[in-house]
Amino acid sequence: MAKGNDQYVQNITPQSEDFSRWYIDVIQKADLMDYAPVRGCIVFKPDGYELWEACQRELDRRFKETGHRNAYFPLFIPESFFEKEKEHVEGFNPELPWVTEAGGEKLEERLAVRPTSETVIGHMYARWIQSYRDLPVKINQWANVVRWEKRTLPFLRTSEFLWQEGHTAHATAEEAESETRMILDLYTDFVEGVLAIPVYRGQKTPSEKFAGAVHTYSIEAMMKDGKALQAGTSHYMGQNFAKGFDIQYLDRDNTLKHVFTTSWGVSTRILGAIIMVHGDDRGLALPPLIAPKQVVIIPIGPKKERDRVVAHAAALHQQLADRNIRVTMDDREDLSPGWKFNEYEMRGIPVRLEIGPRDMEKGQVVLVRRDTGEKLFVPEGELTERLPRLLEEIQHNMFDKAKKFRDDHSHVAHSMEELTHIVRDQKGFALAGWCGDEVCEKAVKEQAGATSRNIPFDPPETLSTCVSCGKSAAHSVWFAKAY
Ligand code: AMP
Ligand code: ZN
Repeated sequence: MAKGNDQYVQNITPQSEDFSRWYIDVIQKADLMDYAPVRGCIVFKPDGYELWEACQRELDRRFKETGHRNAYFPLFIPESFFEKEKEHVEGFNPELPWVTEAGGEKLEERLAVRPTSETVIGHMYARWIQSYRDLPVKINQWANVVRWEKRTLPFLRTSEFLWQEGHTAHATAEEAESETRMILDLYTDFVEGVLAIPVYRGQKTPSEKFAGAVHTYSIEAMMKDGKALQAGTSHYMGQNFAKGFDIQYLDRDNTLKHVFTTSWGVSTRILGAIIMVHGDDRGLALPPLIAPKQVVIIPIGPKKERDRVVAHAAALHQQLADRNIRVTMDDREDLSPGWKFNEYEMRGIPVRLEIGPRDMEKGQVVLVRRDTGEKLFVPEGELTERLPRLLEEIQHNMFDKAKKFRDDHSHVAHSMEELTHIVRDQKGFALAGWCGDEVCEKAVKEQAGATSRNIPFDPPETLSTCVSCGKSAAHSVWFAKAY
């Protein structure tokens, strides 16, 4: 029953006190997940899974619009497949779980539980691709993968996670490269446009690229504690996997050629980004375009008026649902309005609609924005027109706020001292010059505790000297502490 409002919110550790604690408090109180019996694994509870489903819908539509089709490949991958691409096996071997026994018998060949599917898909593509007519192949898979991670954190880094992995094969390097870039654009459009999370787009340094890729592009987001999160990756494989798996096609000129492949993925990590970019001391805050519920209606008023108010609220509910607004109503009698206000704020629903007897007399409803806390009195006749605009405003405001935060916490570093100060004390991203030598990248890691995030396509500034060795810089690189 009616807990005091403040008492309820007090159960969430303030962000400024302990950001990690805040994160764990929020995901548990908002009922998104629970810990699983196996280390590093989590259960996606319905509210968390719904959020993932919303991401899936948005991405899946974009994949299909750009000519990809979904398929499904097996969870188990024979050990020998991993030997075919040297870098790939070196990169993934330490994290692979193995099935050695099944049906009471020891297996002749160990099976890996897939950490990613380039190998098994490469094997299949070699069978499916014979001639130039078979190209391009553009397939996406929605699946779970396993990487036995040492450090885990719900959503952000789990041993088993859900994702999509796209795998394409092309006749030319140019076409594969352009696919890799197109997907990065698609990811950017989704993460910025739908999740309201601004990203830095760029290329990973060789030491951070995907094991087996020629190069990797990434989008990098800044969390509210100033740490970076890799929100999506798109890899250009060149002919590495085509050669390892013998994926060849007979070209128009009657010669056999290896294809060029790409792969790209976004995982359930993205849920962590939504939470850590938009959440605050009151809990989750979901951008309207991704919120499973955009509006919650809460009828209020004394008992004797209840039936009348609830009936009216139900009619409003129907009106909004007819306009394709994702709306829910909470007319539970045993919980106070104040308790419900806090509850739905904590769950991040973008708009609360309150209606009581006095509002009914005035022919109005009260709307409360989750992003600003602002209260709006809206004539009922204007509601179906006003609400979609309000949701749009909230969406844009959330993006602008996140972008301002990110920009305010992004600085140029001219020396290692400055870089360290930026990532440690100012809690943000540092743009610094880099000569291209891995030794200098390592030095940044050791001295500042920051890793290279990416080499941005359009850096805000071009730096001329390496932050570590002082030699001429080949690139301007984003460095940050990262999840
Ligand atoms: P990768 O195949 O390594 O390029 O990763 C594809 C996507 O999955 C990227 O967006 C990664 O950030 C994400 N990812 C990688 N490892 C994990 C993990 N252990 N848990 C959740 N997401 C992950
Ligand atoms: Zn250097």
